[in-house]
Amino acid sequence: MVIKPKIRGFICTNSHPVGCAENVKQQIQYVKAQPELKQGPKRVLVIGCSTGYGLATRIVSAFGNKADTLGVCFEKEPTEKRTGTAGWYNTAAFHDQAHAAGLYAESINGDAFSDEIKEQTIAAIKANMGQVDLVVYSLASPKRKDPESGEVFSSTLKPVGQAYTTKTYDTDKDKVHEITLEPATEKEIADTVKVMGGEDWERWIKFLHEAGVLADGCKTTAYTYIGKQLTWPIYGHATIGLAKEDLDRAANDLRQSYQEINLEAYVSGLKALVTQASSAIPVMPLYISLMYGVMKKDGTHEGCIEQAYRLFVEGLYSSQPNLDEARRLRVDGKETNDETQGKIETLWHQVTQDNFHQLADYKGYHQDFLNLFGFGFEGVDYDADVDPQVSWGKNK
Ligand code: NAD
Repeated sequence: MVIKPKIRGFICTNSHPVGCAENVKQQIQYVKAQPELKQGPKRVLVIGCSTGYGLATRIVSAFGNKADTLGVCFEKEPTEKRTGTAGWYNTAAFHDQAHAAGLYAESINGDAFSDEIKEQTIAAIKANMGQVDLVVYSLASPKRKDPESGEVFSSTLKPVGQAYTTKTYDTDKDKVHEITLEPATEKEIADTVKVMGGEDWERWIKFLHEAGVLADGCKTTAYTYIGKQLTWPIYGHATIGLAKEDLDRAANDLRQSYQEINLEAYVSGLKALVTQASSAIPVMPLYISLMYGVMKKDGTHEGCIEQAYRLFVEGLYSSQPNLDEARRLRVDGKETNDETQGKIETLWHQVTQDNFHQLADYKGYHQDFLNLFGFGFEGVDYDADVDPQVSWGKNK
């Protein structure tokens, strides 16, 4: 099959296996070109391992520190007629490269919020790793089925308290326009916390601990975006921000509850980037396009892999980690410092439909968006007939 991108709104409904493998290969090459990690985990569980920040963290663990990795993700397998999701192909490519490097790599495809997948994960750890010394929680999901009540909760991306009118960029129509986002109801807020807050992270740690598969001194981290004034009304101080605040509560509770195994629990603040999750958030494509322009000009731009590598070196495995007042690890400073934010804000006030492509790096945004699905890579022949049915390699 010849595979060309099918873009519908803020998603691409297909993906390219060869391009996804190229994406994984480039991230591995980046990590291999960095100084080897002096300290780091050897047995890693990544929940949300197949795309974005979770995939990058898995790559840093495996290729920066020769770690065995077990991943959990929720991806669609390809059929003869339909491509798999990008996360499916990324995982296949990761397995191939990790196995070729002599590393254990296995992934479990299913709903991480369910107890069944937690049990399957525990069985795989017991059989192949014994215990884990790092648990990364990198899920981004619009809904969660509560494993106890069976009720399905949906998250909402809305402001809290009052309506918010702002600029946005519609990637589909190539249009900068104003939008008004109505405030969330109490139920929408509570439901978003239920999906993206700390409850499931805590449940994972409880299950893993009760099964005896967390090593003494194990670390765990969940990812957050904190941002600044420009994004606070729709992110930091909005429904998703409140869910993320619940991660801070959970990290504290985890630190208190698992002292007997010296568990270190952190929320890690990462920068805004184009991922499947962030492209669905109103305002973010405009903010990220402007931010990319500023940070590339200043030479401070980073992608998921650079962020994940720095998180290990300067945060999780540093003797002097950069912790903020809420004890979060922070590697988002190159984006959130006042000077960079000031430059983005100036552009934000100036940007209109007419000057958008001059002021913003939409080209860079779109390139990253295509890359997420394995498209737009130089050296990949997108006219070639490729077999979409790629399977995940097994450990030897
Ligand atoms: P992403 O969409 O690229 O990745 C989400 C991952 O979760 C995928 O591996 C997917 O398969 C998995 N997943 C989703 N639902 C699942 C389910 N029910 N069961 C099992 N796996 C499931 O997202 P991302 O942007 O990398 O986000 C990961 C984390 O990083 C989130 O917590 C997000 O808030 C945070 N973060 C993102 C940004 C950003 O700009 N993208 C910035 C800072 C922090």
